[in-house]
Amino acid sequence: MMFESTKGTCPEAGFFEAMRRGLAPDGGLYMPVSIPGIDFSEHLSGSELHFAELAADMAQPYLDTELSEERIRSVARDAFNFPLELKEIGQNLYVLELFHGPTLAFKDFGARFMARLFSEQASKAGEKITILVATSGDTGSAVANGFYNVEGVEVCILYPKGRISRLQEMQMATLGGNIRAMEVSGVFDDCQRLVKQAIMDESLRSEIQLSSANSINIARLIPQSFYYAYASLLLQRMKMEMDAPVFSVPSGNFGNLTGGLVAERMGMATSGFIAATNQNSVVPEFLSGGEYRPRKSVPTISNAMDVGDPSNFSRIRYLFGGSDSAIRSALKGYWFDDNHTREAILELHRRTGYLMCPHTATGYLAASAWRKKNGSEKPVVVLGTAHPVKFRDVIEPVTGEPVEVPERLQSCLEGEKQAKELKPEFPDFKKALLKQA
Ligand SMILES: *Cc1c(COP(=O)(O)O)cnc(C)c1O
Repeated sequence: MMFESTKGTCPEAGFFEAMRRGLAPDGGLYMPVSIPGIDFSEHLSGSELHFAELAADMAQPYLDTELSEERIRSVARDAFNFPLELKEIGQNLYVLELFHGPTLAFKDFGARFMARLFSEQASKAGEKITILVATSGDTGSAVANGFYNVEGVEVCILYPKGRISRLQEMQMATLGGNIRAMEVSGVFDDCQRLVKQAIMDESLRSEIQLSSANSINIARLIPQSFYYAYASLLLQRMKMEMDAPVFSVPSGNFGNLTGGLVAERMGMATSGFIAATNQNSVVPEFLSGGEYRPRKSVPTISNAMDVGDPSNFSRIRYLFGGSDSAIRSALKGYWFDDNHTREAILELHRRTGYLMCPHTATGYLAASAWRKKNGSEKPVVVLGTAHPVKFRDVIEPVTGEPVEVPERLQSCLEGEKQAKELKPEFPDFKKALLKQA
């Protein structure tokens, strides 16, 4: 499969080239030139539905020119070595829990899959590669954990000193091994600038192979289609006569939702998609007929969705051939403020004992709003994007009860921080990178 830029003004690239570039040379985002149809029927029979096997089958047509089927299967099995759960929380209402991976958020799916593909690419090319990541928090920990102990890849993570949560810092800075954490005495933009400078620096690039792994990488997008198909198939296996599910997706940069749209194009059975946001409501406003007007983000309690200019919206436009009306008929949007979100967490917890993170709660609210408006009994699957424990500072005051901390999280909080301090100056960063090589 070849990949083209959403801007369409640069040459097509194979999967590995698109992955190494991240952003296309014309500034667009990579998308497959056509979306391959998949025959899902074999996953409808059989005694069990295996996520990693389904994932490998879905990945195959994108990677067929790069890796053998056997390597693709091994990448999928290794990347997806943690469970996903579909929990029924109400009448025909489900949460697809995507937070049982190492960093307790759905970003583990994209990060772990991408990490193993970088390793495959490096071994195929017979070289080592250094991945640079600038992070303001969550993405960095998913990427760091995703790459941890992955062969042929060194990772350098830059984060702004004192500006990320302790848990986030410990999840990145205690790993060691092939993961180097650098705390930059500056802000997130300084980190991002250093990464960009390094990638453009000719003399550095002649010494080490560099790439970056930001959220727009195509290798993170593709795996985000797999779990939609998994949930759709699981429901069909449970009740054949039931309508295909509607998916309600807590959204910020809209990478997760774009993954769902890709799964639909691949032939997954679905009755549609609901986009849920917090007060950063650029997309829901557009979907209800307004103009698409990106703006500065505002902080909320669902902070992984605080995005004012969602980068994957250009991919959604691309999927619908640039037609606003086509997008509006395929996607419904709802947004909620922090008070609504807190009330939803409390209401569901009181009524059923089920605890949601604030992001998942916006998806739950959107599912309820959509149902009310449409009087629909169709099954709705809310994507559970993070484990509630990651947001216990928000949740505990709402429910008045402590959130239990899983053991694997405890152990990382007890690890030793190994971050290197760095001034936000490029020559210092360059020296550090060369010393490591
Ligand atoms: C990143 C993130 C989101 C938003 O996902 P997008 O793909 O950016 O739309 C939602 N919830 C959590 C917990 C996240 O980490």
